[in-house]
Amino acid sequence: MMKRSAILALILAFLLAVLAGCSSSSTSTSDQPAANAKTIASTVPSKPQTDNQESRPPAANPQPSGDRVLKVHFLDVGQADSILVQFPNGQNMLVDAGNNDDGPVVVSYLKSKGVSRIDYLVGTHPHEDHIGGMDNVIRAFDIGQVYMPRVTTTTKTFEDVLLAVKEKGLKISTAKAGVTVLDQGSLKVNFVAPCGSNYEDLNNWSAVTRIQYGSTAFLLTGDAEAQSEEEMLASRANLKADVLKVGHHGSSSSTTPAFLKAVAPKYAVISVGAWNDYGHPHKETLAKLANAGVQVYRTDRDGTVVFTSDGKNITVEKLGSTIRPRAPDAGGVVAPTAPVTPTGSKGGYIGNKNSKKFHRPDCRWAAEIAPQNRVEFKTREEAVAAGYVPCKVCRP
Ligand SMILES: [Zn+2]
Ligand SMILES: [Zn+2]
Repeated sequence: MMKRSAILALILAFLLAVLAGCSSSSTSTSDQPAANAKTIASTVPSKPQTDNQESRPPAANPQPSGDRVLKVHFLDVGQADSILVQFPNGQNMLVDAGNNDDGPVVVSYLKSKGVSRIDYLVGTHPHEDHIGGMDNVIRAFDIGQVYMPRVTTTTKTFEDVLLAVKEKGLKISTAKAGVTVLDQGSLKVNFVAPCGSNYEDLNNWSAVTRIQYGSTAFLLTGDAEAQSEEEMLASRANLKADVLKVGHHGSSSSTTPAFLKAVAPKYAVISVGAWNDYGHPHKETLAKLANAGVQVYRTDRDGTVVFTSDGKNITVEKLGSTIRPRAPDAGGVVAPTAPVTPTGSKGGYIGNKNSKKFHRPDCRWAAEIAPQNRVEFKTREEAVAAGYVPCKVCRP
């Protein structure tokens, strides 16, 4: 058990590290209401954005050479995200690392693909289903640059990541709209969100990564929801992509019609777990994608999905159950790992009016609910009847 002071020191270290990688040509203004990060930001000078970028000279020829390919692996990590990007220049990027339990499987999948160094590690936002396995990844590989949005939370999962970053002597660069990760002629990687610096929902802090190789492009949206999508549209950044990693596991809180129209993907990937407690992907999202003629891949049905681009054409491969053992029936039975717990016996449940999720009173997420968003239910049934969905961490 870490001491409170040690945890605070870690978070402070995170803030300072993030500030060190902060861009001075930021599109987000600093006169927003002050979060902790903001307060410190105003006292620490920022470095120019070029510090965030690769110093490698750009390729002489902007056209991709035919034999070098970009591979994007959407790992089957259940109700979570983890995406391995293998660039044609030999570098690797990992965007998210699944839940805490997924750390070892993410590590072994990457090793099976010959990865020994992750040049760019992106934690889209500090929710467990995105950064849970990141501490394992940081310890297992040689790590280049770490990118995260400038937001903190007090969960054990987040502290574990900060601790691993600190142990390795790494720094965290700010992931936000306008930051370029890589620009080598035919290969360009940049963030198109978060555009702002003040969000109520951690999901809207999601770093959204756009990868362009030749005439093909990928957009990895984390859990960005409608608010962030609107801001990306307003920013007039290039959002077009052949492959869209659908926001927030296919929740109806993401993938607005205007955003989908702007991205205009040919393929969509929904990173989602069988038997998930949220009803993801939501049928509204599936209908929108179907109406737009988008071909949808789902990690709960297709397992790990790998896209290969030669800069002109994209091919898709479904690896099936390469990472997670599949359920005998993925059609909606209860996961064998779900703990069997009595319902309604622990003095009620706590709901979050904002996220519409409900928790056991002792869940760490319940502790994070702002007082004005807090609602109590006597029974599980009452919460469900009110339209709340169970938290997947405490599984009420
Ligand atoms: Zn998520
Ligand atoms: Zn999230």
